[in-house]
Amino acid sequence: KRKAQPSAADLVSQILNGNITALSRAITLVESKNTAHLKKANTIIKACLPHANKSIRVGITGVPGVGKSTFIEAFGSYLTGQGKKVAVLAIDPSSSLTKGSILGDKTRMEDLVKDKNAFIRPSPSGESLGGVARKTRETIILCEAAGFDTIIIETVGVGQSETAVHSMVDFFLLLKLAGAGDELQGIKRGIIEMADAIAINKADGENAKSAKLAKVEFNRALHLYPEKDSAWKPKVTLCSALHNQGIDTIWQIIQDYIKITTKNNYLKHNRNEQNKFWLIQTIEMRLKSNFFNNEKIKKELKNQLQLIEENKTTPFAAADYLLALK
Ligand code: GDP
Repeated sequence: KRKAQPSAADLVSQILNGNITALSRAITLVESKNTAHLKKANTIIKACLPHANKSIRVGITGVPGVGKSTFIEAFGSYLTGQGKKVAVLAIDPSSSLTKGSILGDKTRMEDLVKDKNAFIRPSPSGESLGGVARKTRETIILCEAAGFDTIIIETVGVGQSETAVHSMVDFFLLLKLAGAGDELQGIKRGIIEMADAIAINKADGENAKSAKLAKVEFNRALHLYPEKDSAWKPKVTLCSALHNQGIDTIWQIIQDYIKITTKNNYLKHNRNEQNKFWLIQTIEMRLKSNFFNNEKIKKELKNQLQLIEENKTTPFAAADYLLALK
């Protein structure tokens, strides 16, 4: 006989006690496609909400190979060494294609995964970016309720996922390599603009000199951007994740940022804005999926597409018609 599943109330009280098994179970409910599971997940999240919001949320991005997992391992261990509780989440929409997460894979962070003050959860799989982002946002709340005071959200530096991460963190860290030729690309895509700090990783051995030069270059580039709403001036720093160098400096930068933005109230303002943004996003996603999954709409959409092909209606008339259907 299978053991009965714990109730939502049981899971909540266990999560609030810092029980990792309960936390994992609740996240699995958040990630489920089953309506009953999602309902239970919502009950849990709602109960956890008053206990959330008490962490520092840090987004970390960078191209594959820049050293994200090595960095998170070093940074996470540094933080647990300071008595912090660290949760590492990932946003990796590509996992649905590769049938496996390339981020947040537990084997990539061997030490941190054994650390009892760290919790590593891979990106939810088989989802669009919107789906992954929503689930990650809800997971942040659960982790905070379970007592994690530092939430790290990792994403690979391709596509729209940085924007999604940026919209759910307090501090956005961009990892870069010296002389990799992607500096300009980053500038073009506005990722540098989102960064609160740029850490040039692998600033060790033969790379040390070019890393120093890259630091000067990035500092120069950052001066070209208008001042941020946070009034924070993004910092450029060097690190070697592999040799555990510069990790403490990055934590100091983050603490300075939190201090300044707490004082000028940007931190709170930003979280409020993020919540509003996610409300609108969720409505848009829900409306869209309700619309396109409606059987009548599905059928009529097919007809209207055919009419368009035959030049018998306009896209606008067809849209009006479909939107007016109930
Ligand atoms: P990710 O794809 O961004 O997660 O990158 P990884 O953390 O897997 O690192 C890619 C490679 O770079 C691995 O072979 C690491 O050992 C190496 N690496 C990571 N950080 C450093 C560093 O600070 N210095 C040097 N020399 N190598 C590093």
